[in-house]
Amino acid sequence: MARTRLRLKAPRPFPLPVGRDRVPPMLEVRELRKEFQPLSGQPVVALGSVSFRVESGQFVSIVGPSGCGKSTLLQCIAGLSRPSAGRVLLHGREVTGPPEGLILLFQEYNKSLMAWRSVLRNVRFGLENRSGMSRPEMDAEARRYIELVGLKGFEAHYPWELSGGMQQRVAIARALVRRPEVMLMDEPFGSLDALTRIELEDALLRLWESLRATILFVTHDIEEAVYLSDRVYVLSCRPALVIEEIEVKLERPRHQLTTREDPRFIQARRHIFELISKEMAKA
Ligand code: ADP
Ligand code: MG
Repeated sequence: MARTRLRLKAPRPFPLPVGRDRVPPMLEVRELRKEFQPLSGQPVVALGSVSFRVESGQFVSIVGPSGCGKSTLLQCIAGLSRPSAGRVLLHGREVTGPPEGLILLFQEYNKSLMAWRSVLRNVRFGLENRSGMSRPEMDAEARRYIELVGLKGFEAHYPWELSGGMQQRVAIARALVRRPEVMLMDEPFGSLDALTRIELEDALLRLWESLRATILFVTHDIEEAVYLSDRVYVLSCRPALVIEEIEVKLERPRHQLTTREDPRFIQARRHIFELISKEMAKA
């Protein structure tokens, strides 16, 4: 795997040298492989050998062609699917089932909201069955997150009374109210129109900055990956491998116009586009 700063530096070998950091990274994926055995036909190797790390407080994106194994990767990291080989480590501890402190936000957010619950009760659900909080405390916390995602005033609405972008905000609030150490997001803005998407990208960045969260964000949208991230891992076609790690040194806060016009942004976008185009040509 190669590693690139925006001024494209020499590739760095992977795995990272042992002992570089004394403290284990927040999240580490080591040589993860996933093979599916369909009921009939040949096995499908979704993940070849995927390795990368996410440091605490970072915004990291995974970008790769459709069908390359991105969702499979997130499911393995979230402990929802067992890898065929390799390991996922959260704070140095192996993930063997859904871990505390890690939340996966699914692509089809509208299906994950409960239609029979109001916005307040959907967000509160994130806190229910957790020890030590009374109903009023849970409600107060849920209201705080509803406000943080920009939905103050919609607490009593039901999901079906909201636009797609608003529903996605509810799903984000419900995930974040649990204060996860890491939030995994699987193409969360994929089905939104361009303007709503822009709005939500900025809302997510503001939340990430104010909550000091760690986010691993999966997308097939190269521009979105560069705009949001501190670091982008580019995946090959299936079976997925990390083919390059790109550090995005663009200043924050980012701006939809000026950041996207920055020559470093344009260079990173072009570089990733070329990488993925080459990959797709091979397939
Ligand atoms: P992406 O999210 O990058 O579009 P996926 O992770 O959804 O890709 O899928 C990667 C590959 O694994 C695809 O070829 C898909 O058909 C296959 N796959 C995913 N889930 C299963 C499954 N449960 N059984 C068999 N094959 C699967
Ligand atoms: Mg997917």
